[in-house]
Amino acid sequence: MAIEWQILGRAGADNALHVVVDSGQSRESFLFDCGEGVLDSLRPGEVQSVAYLAFSHFHMDHVSGFDGFFRLNYNRPDAPVTVWGPAGTMDLMGHRFRGFVWNLHADQPGEWIVREIGPTSLSTSRFLAREAFTPPHRQPDQPRNGALLQQGRSWRLEGRLLPHGSIDSVAYRLIEAPRQNIDPAAMQRHNYLPGPWLRRIIDAAETEEESLIEIAGRSLRVGELRRELLVTSPGASLAYLTDFRVEPGTPAWEELVTWLTGTTTLVCECQYRAADIVLARQNAHMTADLVGRLAAEAGVGRLVLQHLSRRYSSEDWSEMRDEAAQFFPETVLPPEWGLR
Ligand SMILES: [Zn+2]
Ligand SMILES: [Zn+2]
Repeated sequence: MAIEWQILGRAGADNALHVVVDSGQSRESFLFDCGEGVLDSLRPGEVQSVAYLAFSHFHMDHVSGFDGFFRLNYNRPDAPVTVWGPAGTMDLMGHRFRGFVWNLHADQPGEWIVREIGPTSLSTSRFLAREAFTPPHRQPDQPRNGALLQQGRSWRLEGRLLPHGSIDSVAYRLIEAPRQNIDPAAMQRHNYLPGPWLRRIIDAAETEEESLIEIAGRSLRVGELRRELLVTSPGASLAYLTDFRVEPGTPAWEELVTWLTGTTTLVCECQYRAADIVLARQNAHMTADLVGRLAAEAGVGRLVLQHLSRRYSSEDWSEMRDEAAQFFPETVLPPEWGLR
Protein backbone atom coordinates (compact mmCIF):
# COMPACT_ATOMS: atom_id res chain seq x y z
CA MET A 1 0.00 0.00 0.00
CA ALA A 2 1.28 3.45 -0.84
CA ILE A 3 0.27 6.97 -1.79
CA GLU A 4 2.42 8.11 -4.72
CA TRP A 5 2.28 11.81 -5.57
CA GLN A 6 3.81 14.38 -7.89
CA ILE A 7 3.48 18.17 -8.11
CA LEU A 8 2.71 19.11 -11.70
CA GLY A 9 3.78 22.38 -13.33
CA ARG A 10 6.90 24.50 -12.84
CA ALA A 11 7.83 26.95 -10.07
CA GLY A 12 5.99 30.24 -10.56
CA ALA A 13 3.60 28.64 -13.12
CA ASP A 14 0.27 26.85 -12.59
CA ASN A 15 0.57 23.81 -10.33
CA ALA A 16 -1.53 20.74 -9.64
CA LEU A 17 -1.14 17.52 -7.68
CA HIS A 18 -1.30 14.03 -9.22
CA VAL A 19 -1.84 11.17 -6.77
CA VAL A 20 -2.00 7.39 -7.17
CA VAL A 21 -3.26 5.26 -4.29
CA ASP A 22 -1.77 1.79 -4.73
CA SER A 23 -3.60 -0.75 -2.56
CA GLY A 24 -1.59 -3.74 -3.82
CA GLN A 25 -4.74 -5.00 -5.63
CA SER A 26 -5.58 -1.80 -7.54
CA ARG A 27 -4.21 1.62 -8.45
CA GLU A 28 -6.60 4.60 -8.33
CA SER A 29 -5.62 8.05 -9.59
CA PHE A 30 -6.61 11.52 -8.44
CA LEU A 31 -5.83 14.94 -9.88
CA PHE A 32 -6.14 18.01 -7.68
CA ASP A 33 -6.66 21.11 -9.88
CA CYS A 34 -5.87 21.37 -13.58
CA GLY A 35 -4.16 24.66 -14.49
CA GLU A 36 -2.46 25.50 -17.77
CA GLY A 37 0.26 23.09 -18.87
CA VAL A 38 0.06 20.87 -15.79
CA LEU A 39 -0.75 17.75 -17.84
CA ASP A 40 2.47 18.11 -19.87
CA SER A 41 4.42 16.01 -17.38
CA LEU A 42 1.90 13.11 -17.47
CA ARG A 43 1.62 10.48 -20.20
CA PRO A 44 -1.80 10.35 -21.96
CA GLY A 45 -2.44 6.97 -20.29
CA GLU A 46 -1.89 8.55 -16.86
CA VAL A 47 -4.37 11.34 -17.68
CA GLN A 48 -6.87 8.69 -18.85
CA SER A 49 -6.44 6.82 -15.56
CA VAL A 50 -7.54 9.75 -13.39
CA ALA A 51 -10.88 8.71 -11.89
CA TYR A 52 -11.27 11.69 -9.54
CA LEU A 53 -10.62 15.30 -10.55
CA ALA A 54 -10.88 17.57 -7.51
CA PHE A 55 -10.90 21.34 -7.96
CA SER A 56 -10.02 23.67 -5.11
CA HIS A 57 -11.83 26.56 -6.85
CA PHE A 58 -12.24 27.94 -10.35
CA HIS A 59 -9.81 30.83 -10.64
CA MET A 60 -8.24 30.48 -14.10
CA ASP A 61 -4.88 29.22 -12.86
CA HIS A 62 -6.62 26.10 -11.46
CA VAL A 63 -8.84 25.17 -14.41
CA SER A 64 -7.14 26.48 -17.58
CA GLY A 65 -5.80 23.01 -18.45
CA PHE A 66 -9.21 21.32 -18.24
CA ASP A 67 -9.83 21.21 -22.02
CA GLY A 68 -6.79 18.93 -22.42
CA PHE A 69 -8.09 16.65 -19.67
CA PHE A 70 -11.59 16.60 -21.18
CA ARG A 71 -10.30 15.85 -24.67
CA LEU A 72 -8.62 12.66 -23.43
CA ASN A 73 -11.52 11.59 -21.20
CA TYR A 74 -14.89 12.90 -22.48
CA ASN A 75 -15.97 9.50 -23.83
CA ARG A 76 -14.16 7.23 -21.40
CA PRO A 77 -15.68 3.78 -21.90
CA ASP A 78 -14.89 1.89 -18.70
CA ALA A 79 -15.96 4.04 -15.74
CA PRO A 80 -17.27 7.53 -15.00
CA VAL A 81 -15.03 10.47 -14.18
CA THR A 82 -15.95 12.08 -10.86
CA VAL A 83 -15.36 15.82 -10.49
CA TRP A 84 -15.35 17.49 -7.05
CA GLY A 85 -15.43 21.22 -6.34
CA PRO A 86 -16.99 24.06 -4.33
CA ALA A 87 -20.33 25.84 -4.85
CA GLY A 88 -20.97 26.49 -8.55
CA THR A 89 -19.07 23.40 -9.79
CA MET A 90 -22.08 21.70 -11.45
CA ASP A 91 -22.97 24.84 -13.40
CA LEU A 92 -19.42 25.64 -14.33
CA MET A 93 -18.54 22.13 -15.49
CA GLY A 94 -21.80 21.99 -17.47
CA HIS A 95 -20.66 25.11 -19.37
CA ARG A 96 -17.21 23.57 -19.94
CA PHE A 97 -18.75 20.35 -21.31
CA ARG A 98 -21.03 22.28 -23.66
CA GLY A 99 -18.28 24.60 -24.89
CA PHE A 100 -17.77 22.45 -28.03
CA VAL A 101 -19.84 21.46 -31.06
CA TRP A 102 -21.30 17.98 -30.58
CA ASN A 103 -22.76 16.20 -33.61
CA LEU A 104 -21.08 12.76 -33.59
CA HIS A 105 -21.80 11.92 -29.99
CA ALA A 106 -24.99 9.79 -30.07
CA ASP A 107 -23.23 6.43 -29.67
CA GLN A 108 -20.41 7.64 -27.46
CA PRO A 109 -19.82 6.24 -23.99
CA GLY A 110 -18.75 8.66 -21.28
CA GLU A 111 -20.32 9.63 -17.98
CA TRP A 112 -19.30 12.49 -15.69
CA ILE A 113 -20.43 12.71 -12.09
CA VAL A 114 -20.03 16.28 -10.86
CA ARG A 115 -20.21 16.81 -7.12
CA GLU A 116 -20.46 20.11 -5.32
CA ILE A 117 -19.32 20.63 -1.73
CA GLY A 118 -21.54 22.96 0.28
CA PRO A 119 -21.21 23.81 3.97
CA THR A 120 -23.89 21.29 5.01
CA SER A 121 -24.68 19.18 1.93
CA LEU A 122 -23.21 17.50 -1.15
CA SER A 123 -24.98 18.02 -4.48
CA THR A 124 -24.53 15.83 -7.56
CA SER A 125 -25.30 16.00 -11.27
CA ARG A 126 -24.59 13.37 -13.96
CA PHE A 127 -23.66 14.38 -17.49
CA LEU A 128 -23.60 11.95 -20.43
CA ALA A 129 -21.57 12.23 -23.63
CA ARG A 130 -24.33 10.57 -25.69
CA GLU A 131 -26.65 13.48 -24.73
CA ALA A 132 -24.03 16.10 -25.63
CA PHE A 133 -23.76 16.65 -21.87
CA THR A 134 -27.20 18.22 -21.60
CA PRO A 135 -29.43 18.23 -19.66
CA PRO A 136 -27.62 17.60 -16.37
CA HIS A 137 -29.26 14.80 -14.36
CA ARG A 138 -29.60 16.14 -10.87
CA GLN A 139 -29.38 13.57 -8.05
CA PRO A 140 -30.82 14.04 -4.54
CA ASP A 141 -28.63 16.13 -2.23
CA GLN A 142 -26.89 14.33 0.61
CA PRO A 143 -26.24 15.80 4.06
CA ARG A 144 -22.54 16.15 4.83
CA ASN A 145 -21.00 13.59 7.19
CA GLY A 146 -18.20 15.60 8.83
CA ALA A 147 -15.36 16.17 6.39
CA LEU A 148 -16.00 12.91 4.49
CA LEU A 149 -16.62 13.30 0.75
CA GLN A 150 -16.19 9.79 -0.59
CA GLN A 151 -15.09 6.40 0.66
CA GLY A 152 -13.22 4.04 -1.67
CA ARG A 153 -12.20 0.48 -0.92
CA SER A 154 -8.68 1.47 0.11
CA TRP A 155 -9.02 5.22 0.80
CA ARG A 156 -11.27 8.00 2.02
CA LEU A 157 -11.42 11.52 0.60
CA GLU A 158 -12.18 14.41 2.92
CA GLY A 159 -12.77 18.09 2.15
CA ARG A 160 -13.06 21.38 4.04
CA LEU A 161 -14.04 24.81 2.77
CA LEU A 162 -11.35 27.43 3.37
CA PRO A 163 -11.82 31.19 2.87
CA HIS A 164 -10.21 32.65 -0.28
CA GLY A 165 -11.44 36.25 -0.23
CA SER A 166 -15.13 36.23 -1.05
CA ILE A 167 -15.16 32.61 -2.30
CA ASP A 168 -14.45 29.15 -0.88
CA SER A 169 -11.40 27.08 -1.75
CA VAL A 170 -11.70 23.36 -1.00
CA ALA A 171 -8.87 21.76 0.99
CA TYR A 172 -8.66 18.01 0.36
CA ARG A 173 -7.23 15.18 2.44
CA LEU A 174 -6.79 11.65 1.10
CA ILE A 175 -6.29 8.91 3.68
CA GLU A 176 -5.31 5.30 3.00
CA ALA A 177 -7.27 2.57 4.77
CA PRO A 178 -5.44 1.17 7.82
CA ARG A 179 -2.79 -1.37 6.90
CA GLN A 180 -2.79 -4.91 8.26
CA ASN A 181 0.56 -6.61 8.64
CA ILE A 182 1.84 -9.88 10.11
CA ASP A 183 3.56 -9.23 13.45
CA PRO A 184 6.94 -11.09 13.41
CA ALA A 185 7.05 -11.17 17.24
CA ALA A 186 3.66 -12.95 17.34
CA MET A 187 4.97 -15.47 14.76
CA GLN A 188 7.87 -16.30 17.09
CA ARG A 189 5.65 -16.45 20.18
CA HIS A 190 3.44 -19.07 18.55
CA ASN A 191 6.35 -20.94 16.90
CA TYR A 192 4.82 -20.55 13.44
CA LEU A 193 7.07 -20.99 10.42
CA PRO A 194 6.51 -18.52 7.56
CA GLY A 195 5.08 -19.89 4.32
CA PRO A 196 2.56 -19.25 1.55
CA TRP A 197 -0.25 -19.68 4.14
CA LEU A 198 0.52 -16.17 5.46
CA ARG A 199 -0.95 -14.69 2.28
CA ARG A 200 -4.29 -16.32 3.11
CA ILE A 201 -4.39 -14.51 6.47
CA ILE A 202 -4.28 -11.10 4.71
CA ASP A 203 -6.56 -12.14 1.82
CA ALA A 204 -10.00 -10.59 2.47
CA ALA A 205 -11.64 -13.40 0.45
CA GLU A 206 -10.82 -15.92 3.22
CA THR A 207 -13.69 -16.13 5.71
CA GLU A 208 -12.94 -15.90 9.43
CA GLU A 209 -14.60 -19.09 10.68
CA GLU A 210 -14.92 -21.36 7.63
CA SER A 211 -11.42 -21.13 6.13
CA LEU A 212 -8.96 -23.51 7.76
CA ILE A 213 -5.19 -23.52 7.49
CA GLU A 214 -2.95 -26.49 8.22
CA ILE A 215 0.12 -25.56 10.24
CA ALA A 216 2.46 -28.24 11.61
CA GLY A 217 -0.26 -30.89 11.48
CA ARG A 218 -2.85 -28.68 13.21
CA SER A 219 -5.91 -27.21 11.52
CA LEU A 220 -6.51 -23.59 12.54
CA ARG A 221 -9.25 -21.12 11.67
CA VAL A 222 -8.27 -18.03 9.68
CA GLY A 223 -10.12 -15.82 12.16
CA GLU A 224 -8.12 -17.18 15.07
CA LEU A 225 -4.82 -16.74 13.22
CA ARG A 226 -5.77 -13.18 12.30
CA ARG A 227 -6.40 -12.33 15.95
CA GLU A 228 -3.05 -13.86 16.91
CA LEU A 229 -0.88 -12.44 14.15
CA LEU A 230 -2.22 -9.26 12.57
CA VAL A 231 -1.30 -5.77 13.69
CA THR A 232 -3.11 -2.73 12.32
CA SER A 233 -1.28 0.50 11.58
CA PRO A 234 -2.77 3.73 10.23
CA GLY A 235 -2.44 4.32 6.47
CA ALA A 236 -0.55 7.26 4.99
CA SER A 237 -2.38 10.54 4.34
CA LEU A 238 -1.88 13.48 2.02
CA ALA A 239 -3.48 16.93 2.20
CA TYR A 240 -3.73 19.47 -0.62
CA LEU A 241 -4.35 23.10 0.38
CA THR A 242 -4.23 25.99 -2.02
CA ASP A 243 -5.43 29.59 -2.37
CA PHE A 244 -6.67 30.45 1.10
CA ARG A 245 -5.99 32.79 3.98
CA VAL A 246 -6.55 31.78 7.60
CA GLU A 247 -5.18 33.93 10.46
CA PRO A 248 -3.29 32.13 13.26
CA GLY A 249 -5.07 31.97 16.60
CA THR A 250 -8.57 32.24 15.10
CA PRO A 251 -11.15 29.44 15.48
CA ALA A 252 -10.77 28.72 11.72
CA TRP A 253 -7.00 28.22 12.23
CA GLU A 254 -7.54 25.90 15.21
CA GLU A 255 -10.10 23.84 13.28
CA LEU A 256 -7.73 23.53 10.33
CA VAL A 257 -4.85 22.47 12.61
CA THR A 258 -7.05 19.83 14.27
CA TRP A 259 -8.17 18.44 10.92
CA LEU A 260 -4.60 18.25 9.57
CA THR A 261 -3.08 16.76 12.71
CA GLY A 262 -0.86 13.77 11.95
CA THR A 263 -1.15 14.09 8.15
CA THR A 264 1.82 12.34 6.52
CA THR A 265 2.37 14.87 3.71
CA LEU A 266 0.97 18.39 3.53
CA VAL A 267 1.09 19.96 0.06
CA CYS A 268 0.37 23.65 0.58
CA GLU A 269 0.28 26.88 -1.37
CA CYS A 270 3.03 29.37 -0.55
CA GLN A 271 2.15 32.34 -2.70
CA TYR A 272 4.00 35.11 -0.83
CA ARG A 273 7.14 35.80 1.17
CA ALA A 274 6.68 36.66 4.85
CA ALA A 275 7.53 40.33 4.16
CA ASP A 276 4.67 40.63 1.65
CA ILE A 277 1.97 40.11 4.26
CA VAL A 278 -0.04 43.12 3.05
CA LEU A 279 -0.28 41.66 -0.46
CA ALA A 280 -1.05 38.22 0.96
CA ARG A 281 -3.96 39.57 3.04
CA GLN A 282 -5.23 41.63 0.10
CA ASN A 283 -5.30 38.60 -2.21
CA ALA A 284 -6.38 36.09 0.46
CA HIS A 285 -3.25 33.96 0.25
CA MET A 286 -0.75 32.57 2.75
CA THR A 287 2.84 33.63 3.40
CA ALA A 288 5.77 31.19 3.76
CA ASP A 289 6.16 31.69 7.53
CA LEU A 290 2.45 31.01 8.17
CA VAL A 291 2.52 27.83 6.10
CA GLY A 292 5.48 26.61 8.20
CA ARG A 293 3.59 27.43 11.41
CA LEU A 294 0.53 25.55 10.18
CA ALA A 295 2.62 22.43 9.42
CA ALA A 296 4.38 22.65 12.80
CA GLU A 297 1.18 23.08 14.83
CA ALA A 298 -0.52 20.19 12.99
CA GLY A 299 2.54 17.95 13.48
CA VAL A 300 2.52 16.75 9.88
CA GLY A 301 5.25 14.43 8.55
CA ARG A 302 6.51 16.79 5.87
CA LEU A 303 5.53 20.00 4.11
CA VAL A 304 5.76 20.43 0.32
CA LEU A 305 5.42 23.98 -0.98
CA GLN A 306 3.70 24.77 -4.29
CA HIS A 307 1.86 27.66 -6.03
CA LEU A 308 4.69 30.18 -5.46
CA SER A 309 4.19 33.60 -7.01
CA ARG A 310 5.99 34.33 -10.27
CA ARG A 311 6.80 37.82 -8.95
CA TYR A 312 9.82 36.27 -7.21
CA SER A 313 13.20 34.98 -8.47
CA SER A 314 14.43 31.41 -8.02
CA GLU A 315 16.61 32.64 -5.10
CA ASP A 316 13.46 34.07 -3.50
CA TRP A 317 11.67 30.73 -3.90
CA SER A 318 14.51 28.94 -2.07
CA GLU A 319 14.38 31.60 0.65
CA MET A 320 10.62 31.07 0.97
CA ARG A 321 11.34 27.43 1.70
CA ASP A 322 13.78 28.63 4.40
CA GLU A 323 11.15 30.97 5.86
CA ALA A 324 8.75 28.03 6.25
CA ALA A 325 11.54 25.73 7.49
CA GLN A 326 12.28 28.11 10.40
CA PHE A 327 8.99 26.93 11.87
CA PHE A 328 8.90 23.44 10.32
CA PRO A 329 12.29 21.95 9.33
CA GLU A 330 10.83 19.13 7.18
CA THR A 331 9.88 21.62 4.45
CA VAL A 332 10.76 20.93 0.82
CA LEU A 333 10.17 22.37 -2.64
CA PRO A 334 9.12 19.83 -5.29
CA PRO A 335 12.33 18.01 -6.31
CA GLU A 336 11.39 18.33 -10.03
CA TRP A 337 11.87 22.10 -9.77
CA GLY A 338 15.62 21.64 -9.31
CA LEU A 339 15.95 24.55 -6.86
CA ARG A 340 18.62 24.36 -4.17
ZN1 LIG B 1 -4.27 30.12 -7.57
ZN1 LIG C 1 -7.40 31.61 -6.36
